[in-house]
Amino acid sequence: MTNYDYDLFVIGAGSGGVRAARIAAGHGAKVAIAEEYRYGGTCVIRGCVPKKLLVYASRFSDEFADAGGFGWTVGQSTFDWATLIANKDKEITRLEGAYRGGLERAGVTMHKTRAVLTGPNSVRLADSGKDITVKYILVATGGQPNVDPHLDGAEHAITSNEAFHLGELPKRIVIAGGGYIAVEFAGIFAGLGAETTLIYRREKILRGFDEDLRDGLTEEYEKRGIRILTGQVFSRLEKTAGGITAHCTGGGKIEADQIMFAIGRSPNTRGLGLERAGVALGKGGEIIVDAQQRTNVPSIYAVGDVCDRVNLTPVAIREGHAFADSIFGKKPRVVDHDWIPTAVFSTPEIGTVGRPAHEAAKRPGGVDIYKARFRPMKATLSGRDERMLMKLIVERQTDRVLGCHVLGSDAAEIVQMAAIAMRMGATKADFDATMALHPSAAEELVTMREKWTPPAAAAE
Ligand code: FAD
Ligand code: NDP
Repeated sequence: MTNYDYDLFVIGAGSGGVRAARIAAGHGAKVAIAEEYRYGGTCVIRGCVPKKLLVYASRFSDEFADAGGFGWTVGQSTFDWATLIANKDKEITRLEGAYRGGLERAGVTMHKTRAVLTGPNSVRLADSGKDITVKYILVATGGQPNVDPHLDGAEHAITSNEAFHLGELPKRIVIAGGGYIAVEFAGIFAGLGAETTLIYRREKILRGFDEDLRDGLTEEYEKRGIRILTGQVFSRLEKTAGGITAHCTGGGKIEADQIMFAIGRSPNTRGLGLERAGVALGKGGEIIVDAQQRTNVPSIYAVGDVCDRVNLTPVAIREGHAFADSIFGKKPRVVDHDWIPTAVFSTPEIGTVGRPAHEAAKRPGGVDIYKARFRPMKATLSGRDERMLMKLIVERQTDRVLGCHVLGSDAAEIVQMAAIAMRMGATKADFDATMALHPSAAEELVTMREKWTPPAAAAE
């Protein structure tokens, strides 16, 4: 019998790696983990958690503005970026400690260093150069923000990593990209009072989302003064005495204090020794895994963003958990990547689960669409010019609800609950039979009776 130093070595103590290490140790495996930056990974340290805290901060301006209609007089409000960042950092440090504590209590050996693979059953610790032999290796190294390396002046731009640690709130910011991060940070900076511009290479932000969400959010952002430039990218960034000038392919130029790239993320696989171990990678450098998270090398598995499938925290966590249960807990299972609810924490917020209309429409027999666009109750007294959107996509042949798309306050909270029913196969008749909870915005989802007719068809 071969003797290894550990049963499992996890590279990367983020969402997926930490969960896998803790669960595997709980099943009795001898486990070690290496982390080169901070325990908790992207989500905890410079992703979901600090982002959501900044989103909360950015929404107070709305609350102050809306309060008057409800009889409140709010004094002159001022905002201090340094206080927000310091408080956010304190919370992140607390959470990092909780992650470390969880690993410690589970009996996982922790190495605070970079680790690389040296073969199918061995890793090397970068700090000591020590080689460790292992039965299984789990790569959970996540991803990192892309920058455009060919852009003249790219070094003047930041990414989401730096956005969490700026010395001061920029008065003017330009954000490149039209995906989750670009849209969320545009909302954050605009809410905090920065003059905010989004520059996106195609015609409409949030490609892949339901068209009504894309149009609805664009409209709401423009009402909030967020400038959205489409069909262009930066041609050059130039440092000036007053800040940075972004030259755009449309011919225009924008003066800003910060320029931020939010143009996607790439898997952290470079220099990891994967080639040496014989692990197959995809075109974007992602690790190719099967449904069991196994690579082409039987002793090496991978979970989370490094596989570049669905790059969300709960997915990485589930994949890590399923891997540990399958290999060490004698409970083999795979993660279902269908019906994953997701939110864009813009203001107003997007929550979505299932298929967007353009995709669902390809089903045999087609789909019916139900939608409501309305002024939320709170806006009646506040006078805020904002409209909420609720949309259901229903398969005609089966009556099954295939998509639920919400734009407005608490969209994430609403959609998380709808996702349970939808995953269980809920039909439109089930939604209709469910009693409304009144007065709420979510009750629209169980009270929409009229099928939506596209304007062209309505005119026929
Ligand atoms: P990570 O959490 O990235 O962990 C990987 C870890 O590996 C890191 O700590 C890294 O330092 C370490 N590492 C890398 N290489 C090595 C090495 N060679 N040796 C040792 N350590 C190494 N998802 C959501 O679901 N909801 C959100 O609201 C959300 N918001 C986000 C906001 C931002 C700004 C960003 C960037 C991401 C957000 N995400 C969100 C995505 C989410 O953060 C990721 O999907 C999730 O963190 C992936 O987990 P992971 O375990 O795969 O990798
Ligand atoms: P996304 O993939 O969401 O968006 C990337 C954007 O950048 C797209 O609009 C893309 O355009 C554009 N883009 C890509 N390459 C270029 C380029 N070379 N020049 C100009 N524009 C470019 O990535 P993000 O970076 O926003 O976020 C990464 C991932 O992290 C997300 O996909 C998501 O999985 C996760 N995340 C989740 C969040 C949440 O759950 N709330 C929040 C933040 C991140 P195009 O549309 O043309 O491809």
